[in-house]
Formats: sequence, C-alpha cells, structure tokens
Amino acid sequence: MNKLLSSSIREVSRRIYDGAVRPSDICETCVKLTALVKPLNAYVTVTSDVAGEQASDADARQRRNSLLGQLDGIPVAIKDNYCVKGGPTTCASRMLANFSPGYNATVYERLRKRGAVLIGKTNLDEFAMGSGTVDSLYGPTKNLWGSEVLSQFYSYESDGSPINEWKKDAWRIAGGSSGGSAVAVATGTCYAALGSDTGGSTRNPASYCGLIGLKPTYGLVSRYGLIPLLNSMDVPGILARTVDDTVLILNAIAGPDPADPTTVQSEYVPINLPKTIDVSNLRIGIPKEYGVRGISEEVQACWDEVSRHLEEAGASIVPVSLPHTDYSIVCYSVLNRCDVASNLACYDGIEYGHRADEWSSAHELYKKTRSEGFNDVVKGRILVGNYFLLAENYKEYYVKAMKMRRLIAQDFDALWNGNIDLLLTPTTLTEAPTYDEFTQLDNQTQCLIQDHCTQPANMAGLPAINVPIKLSRRGLPLSLQLMAPIFHEQRLLTAAKWIEQTVRFPRLELKDSCLLE
Ligand code: GLN
Repeated sequence: MNKLLSSSIREVSRRIYDGAVRPSDICETCVKLTALVKPLNAYVTVTSDVAGEQASDADARQRRNSLLGQLDGIPVAIKDNYCVKGGPTTCASRMLANFSPGYNATVYERLRKRGAVLIGKTNLDEFAMGSGTVDSLYGPTKNLWGSEVLSQFYSYESDGSPINEWKKDAWRIAGGSSGGSAVAVATGTCYAALGSDTGGSTRNPASYCGLIGLKPTYGLVSRYGLIPLLNSMDVPGILARTVDDTVLILNAIAGPDPADPTTVQSEYVPINLPKTIDVSNLRIGIPKEYGVRGISEEVQACWDEVSRHLEEAGASIVPVSLPHTDYSIVCYSVLNRCDVASNLACYDGIEYGHRADEWSSAHELYKKTRSEGFNDVVKGRILVGNYFLLAENYKEYYVKAMKMRRLIAQDFDALWNGNIDLLLTPTTLTEAPTYDEFTQLDNQTQCLIQDHCTQPANMAGLPAINVPIKLSRRGLPLSLQLMAPIFHEQRLLTAAKWIEQTVRFPRLELKDSCLLE
C-alpha cells in the first residue's frame, strides 16, 4: 500500500479496475497518513467521514463493474476557499470559521461526478492573500522538504547527498497561498489537490514543494464556488505529482459552466498528450526581465541547464523581452486591493460569517465584526483598496493600473505574434526560505518578491505551469515555469512533460518501516 500512495493516478486506477485494491482501502490509508504528517499542518479539515462514504460508494461501483473512469476512488484535497456543502469552508479566517456553504463549487461537483474522494480542505493564507501560507488563522503550513517528517517517513533517490541541516526551528515555508494543497499532495495524503491562483498561489507552493502546479487560462475552469480574491485574475489551479495526473484533473474540471459567465463558451476538448514528444519545432523565449537581482545561483543554473537540454533536442531558444514586466506586480497590488475592498464588503456580520457579540448600533456591529473577523493583512488591503477607489483617487490608481495591465498583456501578444511558442522562466527566485527568513519581511513585501515571475501570467490570463527540476545543495526543490498563449494548455503540458521526463525530479516514497496498513 505504501508504494501505491506514491504511484500515479493511472497506476492506482489500473489496480482499482483490476480489483487488486479497494477504493476504501486507499482512502483509509490516506486518512491515516494525514495523521502522521499532521505536524506540517496541511489540512484545515480532514473530511474522513465524507471520504469514507464516498470511497465505499466507489467500492460498490467497483463490485458492479461500473467505475466512472480514472478518477473513481482517487483521493483529492481542496483548498479551503472552495465551497463544499455541508462542512466548513473557512478561507482560514475567523470571519468564516463557522461558515458552512449551502452549495458546492463547480470544480468539486465535477470531481465528484468522476468519483474522486475528498480527503480534506487545505490550509491557506487568509482569503488567499499571501505567498507563504504563514498568515492563516490555523497557523502556518510547513514544507515537507527539509522537515523532520521527510527524514522520518520518506525516502527518495538523489544524485548527491544533500547538506542535511535540518534543525527543529529552521523549517521551510511551503509557499502560498495554496501551501496546504501542496503539502497534502507532496506527502501522499492525496493524489492531486486544487489550489487557486491569482498572482501565483498555485505555482509558488508547487515550486517550493517539488510539484507540478498548473494555472489554466483564465475562463477555462469555472470559479463558481471559489471565494473570490480578484475576480478577473482568479483561476482554479491544480497541484499534482506528475503532468499526467494534472491532465486527468484538468480534463475533469475544465469547460463551460452556466453558473460562471466568465468561463469560455466553446466546448472543452480534452487534453491528450502524445506518447513520444518532439520539441524540435518549438521556439522558446527566455525573457530577460525575469533574470532579476535576487535570483539564486542554483535557480539560474537550472534555467540555463533546461534551456540547454531543450536546445540539444532541437528547440530554438530565443532571448526575448517583455518590457513592462516590472510594473506587473505594482499594478497587481493596486487592482488586488480594489477588488478585495469590494469583494469583502459583504462580511458585515448580518447574513453569514462572524458576528461580534456586543454592539449598540449597526455601525458598531460592522466595525466590531470586521475588526475581529479579519487579520491585519486583510484589513490593511481593505483600507488601501477603499482609498484607491475614492472618487478623487480612482483615475490615478485603478484606471492607471488597468491601462498598464493592457500593456503587459500586449507584451505577451507581441511575442506570440512573433512566433514564440512558449516562455521559460523561473517560478520562484530561490529554494523555499525558512520561516524566519520569510517572516522578516511583511506580507506585501514578500508578495512583491515571490510573485515577480508568476503574476504577469494572471495579468494577461495566460496558462502557466511550474515544473520541478532538481534538488538544491540543501536538498530542497528547485523549479521552473513555462507560459503559453491563452488556451494552449495542450502545448504547455506537452512541453512540461518533456521537461519532466528529461530532468527526472526525485519521487518520494513512504519508507517500508512506516506501515499504514
Ligand atoms: N501573493 C499574491 C497575493 O497575496 C497572490 C495570491 C494568490 O495568487 N492567491 O495577493
């Protein structure tokens, strides 16, 4: 069973179809594993009861020979900013700590339609505002890599022996804001998880946790039931251990949704990756603006090495420029705060969410409820957003940022029109920092650094993917990002798979001594 937890979805599904293993056995093992890795704090809620019921339904389908496809009986996790009916959906905020939605997010419905089993809801920065999963009501999520949990329970093949400098208090952040989803997948408690990605929240934790992290084209996947951060940039993201697993999940959740008018109207054509991949006809741009100060020597070396691999396989590597890149994150900060001010105005203590105990006027009710319910990061963003949206400031900030957004998108268009097929960049500038290093800077400053390479794709609505490349000298994941023109997921995932096969990032396995049966 231990081996099965680190297998691909396809392999596990084959065993389920063969009758070699029951979905409920897999589910039970995954739930047990969540207890073992609890110190990492990946989950806000482990939905063991729901998972048990869903898995025994899958058992019944297995007995009747009526399984629903490759996701039937496969454990998954979902970031706790997606509505799942009947249980808590907290956004890791006191404001929603006791909120239980009356409907399901479309992405969850679609996974359930294919028989996937919900293991739990995962930790995040409050309302997905952050890049470290350190600003959660439930405490920070810790990275598996560089942790005691890794050395205790997992093994992996590696070329060099990592500098083992594990120290109790020097644990690494998981990245964010979907850090809980990343750690849930990295530890093997589930095969894939949904994150959300507004500025990098799926790709950033994927980079630090050694996973595939896909941000699909804006509008390809429904946002219905995803509690919004910045409506015109939010997309559901996928975290998985392999590109093939990512494709299975994407094919299950993508496509038009009448409940989300911003989803694309044309029918979704499932991605089907070729058996043998030829990259020789690809023109891959290397944007110079992504080679910023602060990029670590090791990330730079990965970037050079993968470019070389691609070139050796016949691809053209083309130095390119995206001149407005540096403005992206600044404009994002403005737009983000404006949307936050507006989206979070509904939490007033009246309809749902936290309500302050004592108050003597409606004004006092709002004031107390909101100051008790939100953390300082959220409150700061609401205040700044309302300032940007004042009648006298609106043009100066919001309108200007929107104009710049157009220029950033046009930078990308110019490259695609100039026959560039894909862009290759770092995802994060370094390996995962320690908690102490990370929290020396505030949430806003960290976002400026962490989202530098990831945020422009959200500005332009492009699909982008994190691919883990190798382990650093300290034994931590180093990753790169690929970006493609809108709706070119097929090309993006194909190239990502080629890189995956070429670099062979180490696969984690549970040690035999850690028996979960
Ligand atoms: N780090 C960015 C922010 O805090 C992006 C977060 C996200 O993608 N959800 O806003």
